[in-house]
Amino acid sequence: MSNGVKDDISLARSVSSGEKSACEVFVNAYTDLVLSRVWNLMKTHCDHSVRGKICSLLILQKQRKGSLTHYGEDQCDECLDSYIWFFDFLKNKARAYKGANDCSLKTFVWSVINSDSTYKDWLRWKYGRAY
Ligand SMILES: [Zn+2]
Repeated sequence: MSNGVKDDISLARSVSSGEKSACEVFVNAYTDLVLSRVWNLMKTHCDHSVRGKICSLLILQKQRKGSLTHYGEDQCDECLDSYIWFFDFLKNKARAYKGANDCSLKTFVWSVINSDSTYKDWLRWKYGRAY
């Protein structure tokens, strides 16, 4: 097992036990992955542009790049809620990461984010039992 994977396992373990600093490292490392996934989902699941609101994820990304320090009131929080849901979900899933086949945490996170069962869980969370 490579050292990178060993580090990943210890990070995943700390994240799943809710260690604050580990969670910060985790969120920082995987925000771009989660953002692009949520963005894709929201193209068909959020009507922020129809309602003339700015997507909260756009604001988040600009803040991360340091190019935005102030923004108006009219933002859509729906997408941000999904972003937060994904990280809660991933923090729960992190305990299942064991570095099998020398798979990196990044690969693991990617496959969780893009899996069909995650998508169904997300639909259920967003729209209720009907899904
Ligand atoms: Zn939105």
